[in-house]
Amino acid sequence: VLTGTVSVIVRLWGCNLKCKWCDERSNLKIDKSHVFSVNKIVEHIKAYDCDHVVITGGEPMIQEGIISLTKKLKETNSHVTVETNATVRKDVFCDLISMSPKLSSSVPSDINNRKAYDKRRINIKVINYYIKNYNYQMKFVVGKESDFNEIDEILSKISNYDRTKILIMPLAASRRQLFSSQKNIARMCIEKNYRYANRLQLQIWGQNKEPKNNDRIFKKIS
Ligand code: SF4
Repeated sequence: VLTGTVSVIVRLWGCNLKCKWCDERSNLKIDKSHVFSVNKIVEHIKAYDCDHVVITGGEPMIQEGIISLTKKLKETNSHVTVETNATVRKDVFCDLISMSPKLSSSVPSDINNRKAYDKRRINIKVINYYIKNYNYQMKFVVGKESDFNEIDEILSKISNYDRTKILIMPLAASRRQLFSSQKNIARMCIEKNYRYANRLQLQIWGQNKEPKNNDRIFKKIS
């Protein structure tokens, strides 16, 4: 829902899932040499002079300092969004929880205990908690038409949700993939009354995920 809003994106390493198309898969193991204190992270964020902060991952809710980080950011009046796969409950301080439960199409073939993984992948209790207690949106990444059946099934288990907060985003890692699938996914959204979510960064920058001058700014403050 905040597409197009200029934001500082904080990427935290480590995740409890292993989606096969994850753009951060090489960073999923926490590297102890890249640990920063909450104060240091807040200092970096504030150097951008930007009101909107998006905390993403990896999976932010498995980070020890996530509650303290969000609390400090709220104390500085930032608008805070936390992106999560909605498998872990944490009482963070934020303006928006952006949940993205992962469909079965995300599961790689090398998972040992598929049953246990699936149980961890979709946690209805956690989803319900965030819906009840936060301003939220819930985004599903869709690669094929049959994914819609799975989304319908997940939503049928959720007690009370606002349909306008459910977003469908096409699975794509490049402009070419996006352009080849977006019309079909949009058509399905119209048919099934779901809200379509764009991949604006891919449209504008392609596979380069962010404007180049961000590197320069980061160097200046580090
Ligand atoms: S939940 Fe997100 S960060 Fe974790 S593996 Fe899946 S896509 Fe990557």
